[in-house]
Amino acid sequence: MNTDGIASSLQQVHSRIQAVCECTQRPSEQVELIAVSKRQSAETIRVAYQCGQRAFGESYVQEALDKMADLADLDIAWHFIGRVQSNKTRQIATHFDWVHGLADAGHARRLSEQRPADLPPLNVCLQVNLSGESSKDGVAPTALAELLAVCDHLPGLRVRGLMTLPAPSGDDMAQRQPFRALRDLRDQLATPARPLSVLSMGMSDDLEAAILEGATFVRIGTAVFGSRSELAHFWVNRSGKID
Ligand SMILES: *Cc1c(COP(=O)(O)O)cnc(C)c1O
Repeated sequence: MNTDGIASSLQQVHSRIQAVCECTQRPSEQVELIAVSKRQSAETIRVAYQCGQRAFGESYVQEALDKMADLADLDIAWHFIGRVQSNKTRQIATHFDWVHGLADAGHARRLSEQRPADLPPLNVCLQVNLSGESSKDGVAPTALAELLAVCDHLPGLRVRGLMTLPAPSGDDMAQRQPFRALRDLRDQLATPARPLSVLSMGMSDDLEAAILEGATFVRIGTAVFGSRSELAHFWVNRSGKID
């Protein structure tokens, strides 16, 4: 997509966010757009940055590190939205500002230990697996309190809220159900010291449903950058390896 294309698709996404916020009388500043740039080039990210976009979401660690090196001159907030793997926690803890898919106490301990001391604690959202989810990722709702208790004691982490990734549903009301369930869980588990104010939920096709239920981050790829299909199969990183 060219510069004009990205500028106008970003504008369209902002208009969609604003329209739902008006409906629900939420200030639109409460909803932040994360542009999901997995499988997009560093040049494409730079164009979106020039259009004012500051938060970018990446799912593959090596691919993200390559692009961060190319974009080191920009003031980007990097969000890791992929699956956390033990052998990648050090790179995630060192290079990202946020992690959205945390669902495992062992990963949480590693990320905390490996967070460099000169950086602020890593912002994390715990991923919850609500019924109807397409993948098995995420902690079960019944195990969430225990994982939160572990994370609350880790000095390298700051638990900001919850994240979910529900299966698509053709029906608008059904689409809202898992988002509402995430908000309810948040309301049950929030404390004054750890308010869980962030709800990371909503993608290109379901951002309206998510915002209606209280999303504060929406993670939007396709609606900003277009389809990833030609790029989706592989990413050849700098060292020539397929990631
Ligand atoms: C790819 C991805 C997105 C963006 O999806 P789109 O449908 O392209 O907006 C959001 N969240 C996660 C966790 C993703 O992996």
